[in-house]
Amino acid sequence: MNLLITGGAGFIGSSFARGVLRDELPGLEGARVTVLDKLTYAGNFANLGPVAESKRLDFVPGDICDAALVDSVLRKHDHVVHFAAESHVDRSIQEASEFATTNVVGTQVLLDAARRHGVERFVHASTDEVYGSIESGSWTETAPLAPNSPYAATKAGADLLALAYHRTHGLPVTVTRCANNYGPYQHPEKLIPRFVTNLLEGRPVPLYGDGNQARDWIHVTDHCRGTALVLQAGRPGEIYHIGGNEELTNRDLTGLLLEACDTGWDRVQHVEDRKGHDRRYALDDTKIRDELGYRPQVDFRAGLAETIQWYRDNADWWRPLVID
Ligand code: NAD
Repeated sequence: MNLLITGGAGFIGSSFARGVLRDELPGLEGARVTVLDKLTYAGNFANLGPVAESKRLDFVPGDICDAALVDSVLRKHDHVVHFAAESHVDRSIQEASEFATTNVVGTQVLLDAARRHGVERFVHASTDEVYGSIESGSWTETAPLAPNSPYAATKAGADLLALAYHRTHGLPVTVTRCANNYGPYQHPEKLIPRFVTNLLEGRPVPLYGDGNQARDWIHVTDHCRGTALVLQAGRPGEIYHIGGNEELTNRDLTGLLLEACDTGWDRVQHVEDRKGHDRRYALDDTKIRDELGYRPQVDFRAGLAETIQWYRDNADWWRPLVID
């Protein structure tokens, strides 16, 4: 298998690349990997450090919106996992143009090249945020899209394009929609690493609004396991949810992080809620469990403890990335 991973120097893409190159993802053993990544502020070649010497890894620095580059890279690949995106909701509220360009136009450029070169499988990685907010229960894959942030709106646009390329051109595309990921190598702008690194440095942590926003958490390696299953056996034209089954409010999560870092609520700064902040996300992932045998393997408490330890041990990685 010749596998192209876009955004493979980011948090999730690099986890997927490390998993493939260490032969930790069943069915993908021996695959050759090309990472195509623009190395934005969120991309970091150091995320591929543990596998950088692999003879099966090729790294191409570049933009998924560069049609000539994407065309020349894709012609040598039969499988694509597309993670490249602008991914931070707060940034999309400040300025959305890069989100529209990378998330929508970049996806279209990739889909067109995949069509020209007849790739066997193309997985487009998306998010539960495309559905907006749900008060109770959970979404199935047929729920209507109702994104609230510019980030989520651009991801929803990309999902619709991907599915349209299946219907119009017969491209073997599958869409995954995953819950909130956590784990090592996540940029310190995101909630868990931001809180952990602030607490480790003795700084306060900012909690949005009343803190009662509920999110489902999944370890990044479980997301990668689900993605690997969809890549190999997902039905083209279908959407698959990848859930973590660990629902927590941001307030409860903050409590766990304070406890793990041996500190108290006096470190929490209550800040004005994020504009358009969704109250709750919840995925029903029965489909991927029943069809593909997916099961999350990482226990949340153990995964969180291991992640916090990783940030304790890798200050050289995150300190240059901290913005506040
Ligand atoms: P990330 O921001 O850590 O990484 C994104 C990567 O894409 C970076 O390496 C960046 O350099 C690269 N990139 C950005 N623009 C590019 C461009 N124009 N051309 C080439 N590369 C470019 O994001 P992440 O958290 O790893 O998320 C990966 C994917 O998974 C995204 O599509 C995101 O929407 C989706 N997702 C993320 C989560 C989550 O909790 N983090 C949950 C569900 C889905």
